[in-house]
Amino acid sequence: MLRTFGQQAVVIGAGMGGLAAAKAVSPFFERVIVLDRDALPGAPAPRVGTPQARHAHALLAGGLRALQQLFPGFRNDLVNAGAVPVRTGRDVIWERPGYDPFPVRDLGFDVFSMSRPLLEAVCRRRLGAEGNIELCPRARAAEIIPAPHRDRVAAVRVDDGSTTSERLPADLVIDASGRAGPTLAFFDAIGAAPPEQTEIGIDIGYASAIFEVPDPAPEWKGVTHLPEPPKEFRGGLILPLENRRWIVSIGGRHGDNPPDDLDGFLAFTKTFRRPTIHDAIARARPVGDIARYNLPASVRRHFERLPRPPCGLIPIGDSVCRFNPVFGQGMSVAAQEAVVLRDLLEARCDRADPLDGLAEQYFTAIQECLAAPWGTALTDFIHPETRGERPPDLENRLRYGAALLQLAARDPEVHKLMVEVTGLTRPAAALREPALAERVVALMAATA
Ligand SMILES: Cc1cc2nc3c(=O)[nH]c(=O)nc-3n(C[C@H](O)[C@H](O)[C@H](O)COP(=O)(O)OP(=O)(O)OC[C@H]3O[C@@H](n4cnc5c(N)ncnc54)[C@H](O)[C@@H]3O)c2cc1C
Repeated sequence: MLRTFGQQAVVIGAGMGGLAAAKAVSPFFERVIVLDRDALPGAPAPRVGTPQARHAHALLAGGLRALQQLFPGFRNDLVNAGAVPVRTGRDVIWERPGYDPFPVRDLGFDVFSMSRPLLEAVCRRRLGAEGNIELCPRARAAEIIPAPHRDRVAAVRVDDGSTTSERLPADLVIDASGRAGPTLAFFDAIGAAPPEQTEIGIDIGYASAIFEVPDPAPEWKGVTHLPEPPKEFRGGLILPLENRRWIVSIGGRHGDNPPDDLDGFLAFTKTFRRPTIHDAIARARPVGDIARYNLPASVRRHFERLPRPPCGLIPIGDSVCRFNPVFGQGMSVAAQEAVVLRDLLEARCDRADPLDGLAEQYFTAIQECLAAPWGTALTDFIHPETRGERPPDLENRLRYGAALLQLAARDPEVHKLMVEVTGLTRPAAALREPALAERVVALMAATA
């Protein structure tokens, strides 16, 4: 039987970070309140608070594993809800520069593809079955209130649209609002400096449309088309959704934004190196309108550098780090951070004040979740237009990555390892292990 750390934890935001975090902390508090400013739909449906959910959202194997750890039986929940099993390496065609397509091989494990609203709905259903978790729609966290000494959180002021606002006492506040707004306002209110921030200016423009899968369907279930940097900016993705539909997301960079009309959408895909995406959607029936989204930068907030972060305040997900969506990492990292939080709480059961020092430990521990995806984010500097501080070893990183890809094309074991690292089930260090590094470096020398 676990010890209860406090009466109430309040989670701000019922996106993927908030849903995962609520489950992670629920064994340790008598009550967990999840606030969201949106009306949360019963069935899977887009909502205002997560506009990105109208675009393709891949759940990586690492994110699936983390959600399965938090919600035992999660894979079955996804299957029962209509998510499409996708065999890694085999079912999604990868068109990448120099490999059109990359060798198709069954890498031995499945992930699942579905709409982001479906994924959230499955998590919400699971939270609804927990006796001590309450989901509060149309409840905006207006302010995190400090304790009298201003070194820890005391409550959250909630605005539900009525004339009065409610004060919810909180031993722990999790900021899963996506932008860290409540956290940064709290730092301001207590007179503390905000965390330092690193940005990688990517200026990505997205457009997405849904299509019915045509009959007969192609042999593949999805397609990823990557541009050839630095001369090409445009890429696209088809992923299968529940109810025999495709979501098609296309994107460009630095002002080369895709249009939001169907003819323009098709014309954009016609400019890709390979015709696969264009030809597939040209014979498919669109459903609904086209959604757009622009993202100026990947952003990492360095909470780990704070000398003494306030007690009881835990930001998660995009509130800590917002990645270039092209790599499909944000939800998976948020779920992995939630697992880290759960494990830390579990290990602190014996302490007199288990929440004291938790934030410092959490910020240090999640750096491991951020290392590999942020390393991928740095490859955006391959485009000369990318804004920010280029890593000094950029040239070497890019050459190592290119040689590794060459090896992966030839060697199924290296292919699998690379997919495991990009899928966040293995640490990035696995790609630098001596035996492999030797082969990669030899290839780099041979192709120099
Ligand atoms: C175009 C695009 C495509 C993407 N594709 C992928 C992908 O393929 N795979 C992937 O893993 N990730 C992808 N991402 C990233 C992913 O969407 C985020 O990383 C993920 O949603 C982060 O979860 P979160 O809980 O931190 O924030 P969000 O999911 O954004 O949730 C924030 C929630 O907080 C609520 N909220 C905000 N302020 C308040 C407040 N004051 N009070 C109460 N509620 C509040 C909002 O209504 C919202 O529900 C993509 C992002 C974009 C932009």
